[in-house]
Amino acid sequence: MPDSSPTLPPSLWAATAEPAPDCPPLAGSEEAEVAVVGGGFTGLSAALHLAEAGTSVRLLEAAEPGWGASGRNGGQVNPGWKILPSAIRERYGADRGERVIRMAGSTCDLVFDLIERHGIACDAIRPGLVFGANGRRALGVIDDWVRDWSAAGADVERLDRQGSADLLGTETYDAVFLDRRGGNIQPLSYARGLARAAQAAGAHLHGASPAIAVEKQGAGWRVRSRAGEVRARWVLLCTNGYSDALWPGLAQAVVPVMSLVAATKPLSGNLREGILPARNAVTEAKRVIVYYRLDAADRFVIGGRGRLGLADEGSDLAHLERVAVRYFPQLEGAEWEFNWGGLVAMTRRKTPLMMRLAPGVLAGLGFNGRGVAMGTMMGKQLAAAVRGEEVDMPLQALERWPLHAFRQLGVTGRIILGGWLDRLEAGWRGTRS
Ligand SMILES: Cc1cc2nc3c(=O)[nH]c(=O)nc-3n(C[C@H](O)[C@H](O)[C@H](O)COP(=O)(O)OP(=O)(O)OC[C@H]3O[C@@H](n4cnc5c(N)ncnc54)[C@H](O)[C@@H]3O)c2cc1C
Repeated sequence: MPDSSPTLPPSLWAATAEPAPDCPPLAGSEEAEVAVVGGGFTGLSAALHLAEAGTSVRLLEAAEPGWGASGRNGGQVNPGWKILPSAIRERYGADRGERVIRMAGSTCDLVFDLIERHGIACDAIRPGLVFGANGRRALGVIDDWVRDWSAAGADVERLDRQGSADLLGTETYDAVFLDRRGGNIQPLSYARGLARAAQAAGAHLHGASPAIAVEKQGAGWRVRSRAGEVRARWVLLCTNGYSDALWPGLAQAVVPVMSLVAATKPLSGNLREGILPARNAVTEAKRVIVYYRLDAADRFVIGGRGRLGLADEGSDLAHLERVAVRYFPQLEGAEWEFNWGGLVAMTRRKTPLMMRLAPGVLAGLGFNGRGVAMGTMMGKQLAAAVRGEEVDMPLQALERWPLHAFRQLGVTGRIILGGWLDRLEAGWRGTRS
């Protein structure tokens, strides 16, 4: 662990966010009922829900709230999980499955309710999230989503080629899945707003405070940082794709994958004309996706895993910009102002993990690129578990990804192969670079 704390990397969100709350480093010896490690949506939401319930909580963040994926993502409030409700039912059984589906289906409500209740200024809008599809496989995926989520009572719809072109202003897709639960936020402002709300409720948040050891002490735990320690009955590890060696095996539960984002300067006139008229958040039902939206100042923001995974940032950024112009030819003349990247945490079975690592030590992570809403919900679930309340999220033992050291290669290989298969199935239409 380096002596100095990492600073927030430059990005569109860092340049336009609400000011950061004051989070002094941990100093000296403190006590709390709960020590939270990691200040992204998961840790911040856990701290907020605990503090609101009257439980004393101290959060340790290595850098500053929102420094990780939470302050760098696409800001798309994405409903549900990566796997279908019917697959959730198969995985967890009928009763538990229903509870998980209800919980997964309510994650966006949780985000927008918190924003409203705490007056969080983060450019929140809720025009719906759209999944675009080309080719037989992707169309089958969106049909399954419409069937499963309609049956679960969600406000979702399939739009055909013309309907999707009218909605999005691009003729890229054969059909789309419109999920009206979703929307957009400025993610770093949302993280900072959660942090302020947690502080207002009584939580102590410490920035520049990496947890460097978690040690058993009596009936509880001692979490050590560089200049202080917290003694707590409970420890919540919320470090997601940035998990280090703090808890043996935790980093092996997920495979971190770099996702890159690029944003234009604010668009106006001919450049802005016709692009995402309803301001939807858009992602795709392919194997290798891009996701895009407008920000509050009409910048076009596009992200994706590119073609090469972690391999070649320059080429992946150029790829994103080419895709943007292919989908919206009017972007040909746009100037690109920002680019940045962050780590998404993938899990072996494509579901988030809530794990009991030892008595009093829980971890919640692995959102497979859909953690704005589900990370917020995970924090709430972790808080409920600590308080002995009913929890919807299945609580399991530590699940390591077998042959973890080779998974990074495997994921990169899958991205390359997946991109080829997507293009093949779409008849080389709509996805060529
Ligand atoms: C580029 C990108 C685009 C994405 N787009 C979307 C999107 O549009 N919609 C969506 O739903 N999801 C998206 N995601 C995923 C989403 O951002 C994450 O799932 C979510 O932010 C995870 O939140 P978290 O709190 O669990 O983890 P993080 O936000 O990653 O926070 C983990 C924190 O733990 C801290 N930490 C690690 N180790 C220690 C330690 N030892 N001591 C103290 N602190 C520590 C880190 O500093 C970090 O701040 C995207 C992710 C990326 C990277």
